[in-house]
Amino acid sequence: MEKDILFDIQHLKKSFHVDGGELKAVDDVTFQIRKGEIFGLVGESGCGKSTLGRLLVRLYQPNGGDILYKGKSVLRLNKKDAKAYTKQVQMIFQQPYASLNPRMTIGEIIKEGMKIHHMGTAKEMDERVYELLEMVGLNPEHAKRFPYEFSGGQRQRTGIARALAVDPEFVVCDEPISALDVSIQAQIINLLKRLQTQLQLTFLFIAHDLSMVRYISDRVGVMYLGSLVEVAPPEELYVNPLHPYTQALISAVPKPDPVQENERTRIILEGDVPSPVNTPKGCKFAGRCKYATERCRQERPEFRRISDHHMIACHRVEELNHFE
Ligand code: SF4
Repeated sequence: MEKDILFDIQHLKKSFHVDGGELKAVDDVTFQIRKGEIFGLVGESGCGKSTLGRLLVRLYQPNGGDILYKGKSVLRLNKKDAKAYTKQVQMIFQQPYASLNPRMTIGEIIKEGMKIHHMGTAKEMDERVYELLEMVGLNPEHAKRFPYEFSGGQRQRTGIARALAVDPEFVVCDEPISALDVSIQAQIINLLKRLQTQLQLTFLFIAHDLSMVRYISDRVGVMYLGSLVEVAPPEELYVNPLHPYTQALISAVPKPDPVQENERTRIILEGDVPSPVNTPKGCKFAGRCKYATERCRQERPEFRRISDHHMIACHRVEELNHFE
């Protein structure tokens, strides 16, 4: 295994029983997250990206596959290592209000994890709370307030401080700005990016806003119906997307340059989004892909490496993009 790999996710599966069958939320997903990077994960809602994040922080147990963290399976940790893992791996949630206990003060909320992990005396923890509040752009006096007294942006700053309180190495940011006013989204993104660099953190950044993901990420993964279809650095993925689904997604993103924006042609996908329950046996995108062949409908494409930085799941990628 490469030295800088923090997570090695292997054939990960998570399904839920629903009326009418089995919903494969995460369906045989394999990829790596490198230490110190921001890995952006995009896709339409319901594509399984939040389930994947929850599997990494052990909020869900997978049905198959493995998650290796620093080379060790997180599915078979003893009690002591499991506790250490919950400290090293944190999550920032989409709904900052719903994720904060309304009966606790902001200070108590931030301190909770520190208490669980016995991180110092009461005085030391109070001092750490003040330090964290300042770090996320709040004031030490805010420690005595309650979540209902805060704006959406202030609540998300509290969620960030709570996640960072236990000195994690890895944070899942699950749509951290989608519930916020547009006017403060950029502030929260810039805060996250600054803290990631300053504290040398690794992020899995889940979002459906493609422009934001491009701005913040070192590499981007695209999910479709529970499967990863393409992974590449943003400068490659956004300029030269190779998977037909990624091409359609990227074609919907407005270009900042007015000349390029005038030339932009949006690819409108035809066909219905298949049900995530009992998905087709071949390529899941075949029903909407204008390049689909009989092979595509019969055989699931392997998620494979086509260059040092680029992975893709498509039978026809070489011929469609004129390279071998
Ligand atoms: Fe389209 Fe076939 Fe590629 Fe699937 S495998 S994306 S159906 S060309």
